[in-house]
Amino acid sequence: MTILLTASAFRLPALAGALLTLLLLAALGGCGGGGGAEPEPLPCHGYGCAYDVQGPAGMRLRYAPVVESSDPRANVVFLEQLYQMVEGCAGIQAPAPLVVIEKDGALVSPLDGLPRKGLYYADPDLVLIDDSAWTYWSLKHETVHYLLHHALGNSDPDHTSSLFVTCVELPFAMP
Ligand SMILES: [Zn+2]
Repeated sequence: MTILLTASAFRLPALAGALLTLLLLAALGGCGGGGGAEPEPLPCHGYGCAYDVQGPAGMRLRYAPVVESSDPRANVVFLEQLYQMVEGCAGIQAPAPLVVIEKDGALVSPLDGLPRKGLYYADPDLVLIDDSAWTYWSLKHETVHYLLHHALGNSDPDHTSSLFVTCVELPFAMP
């Protein structure tokens, strides 16, 4: 006990660093924890599962408050067409995931902390795209991750599949 107390003065900075790391990991992991005063993280990987509209093919889309309902990015039928175009190209069919539009710059990868134009989370499936000019590219790209996860149980985070090229660069017409 005495030895620990004596050594504690030297260990404190390291301990504080370790605690900070643990707190950061808990925050990143969306650790449920509970018991404290911290608010529970939102479901659907911290983004919430609410959506504004559901398309005829089943896609749930949340676009508010980031884009107006008149915006093409809020047009769930159009986004479903892009989704189905990638489905057809990949030869993989799956129920459309929840798609959420966030502000440009709001998406940060939990893996490396770097900004992203789109993100895909599995279980429950969630595709996040931002409202930049990359919106439709990101939707198609994240759809490939989702379809690969659905078909193979692996979303291919390293982009080894050729589908990331062949099914994402397909031309399309705006509505
Ligand atoms: Zn990717």
